[in-house]
Amino acid sequence: MDALHAKYPFFEGARGAVAGASASLPELVAADAPAVDRARERVERALLEGTVEPEAGAFDGSAVDVDARSELLSYPIARILVSLLDSEPAVEKYAAAEASTALDRLRADLERDDGLRSTPTPTVDLDDVLAEFDLDDAVRAEPVRGSRDPTHYRIEVGPYLRLSSPAWGDSWRLVNRALADGAVRVSREELLEAIGAAIEARVREGLPFELEAGEGIAAELESRVSELKRLLSERTYAGPIDVVAPELFPPCMENLIGKAERGVELSGPESFALMAFLVGIGMSPDEVVAFCADTSLDAEGIRYQTEYLADDRGTQYPPPTCETLSNYGICHNEEDHMRVAADPLSYYETRVEAADDGEIVDWREENRDESDDGEAATEGEPVEK
Ligand code: SF4
Repeated sequence: MDALHAKYPFFEGARGAVAGASASLPELVAADAPAVDRARERVERALLEGTVEPEAGAFDGSAVDVDARSELLSYPIARILVSLLDSEPAVEKYAAAEASTALDRLRADLERDDGLRSTPTPTVDLDDVLAEFDLDDAVRAEPVRGSRDPTHYRIEVGPYLRLSSPAWGDSWRLVNRALADGAVRVSREELLEAIGAAIEARVREGLPFELEAGEGIAAELESRVSELKRLLSERTYAGPIDVVAPELFPPCMENLIGKAERGVELSGPESFALMAFLVGIGMSPDEVVAFCADTSLDAEGIRYQTEYLADDRGTQYPPPTCETLSNYGICHNEEDHMRVAADPLSYYETRVEAADDGEIVDWREENRDESDDGEAATEGEPVEK
């Protein structure tokens, strides 16, 4: 079993490894093999935490990691589980979480590759990943004098448009890009974000599977699916915090808002983290647009992201965890407050709970009052004839 396939189970080569496994998926499910429980964890963490890393610790394929076989086989079983949830937003969220986790692993691989050449951990390099997504001919590194590590790349305009979204911010719009010979200039980090989009599309491909409920593998997985549905409905029932108190926002979100207010473009992960947080505390797309009115974030991009993040059942896609935000350089963990909560939403919740009810002024009430006052004044004015 190639540990790299377990680490990147959506690679073409991993499909062959699954097909060549000693037991078929129905046999594994019928036997309630460890891969089944890991698949359930994969989906649960994707939908509730935005990551598919095992709770016990990140999987890096090293010799000390548990069972690479279960890790690999959990991926196709997780795809079946998420299909059985019968929810389009669940599929979207699952694919986004697989992509985000894979990108974290890829960044770690590239750092290892840049630093420690001999490592017991199996790693991929950028060329492997570009080839995996047929991007090897479409992406060229810009040579840097005196360094073997490029900081910028040129990506052909077709793949660039396919793998990026205007919702990621104005800086991604083609009109704001250096374009020469049919190729767009991107930084290394931007190239990784585009690769993240390619991973998400690969994971999303073919989902949801059409499976007859109550038959075959669907029947075998019925209790796992019910367990996931119960967890999701509990979360939906609990509802968002539903109070907007900017003075209690965690430092990461304050920093992102401050940055956007200074007119600085937020990167894709930064704007995603901020939007997921604002939706997570119960703000509607209209409220988020109004809240971000005087920032570098544009209304169209905000609407696109927030409508995607809030699904029709009210289940929220949580903002990335503190650990992920720390990897992106978004979190600085002031006074080690990461100890208090694992993600910005939970941290905000603890601050709201600790505050005196009388101290909290909901931003929406303040702004609603202002607009009501305006309407009242208009209504009270004499009408000229
Ligand atoms: S520890 Fe968590 S809540 Fe605090 S700044 Fe970092 S990401 Fe935000």
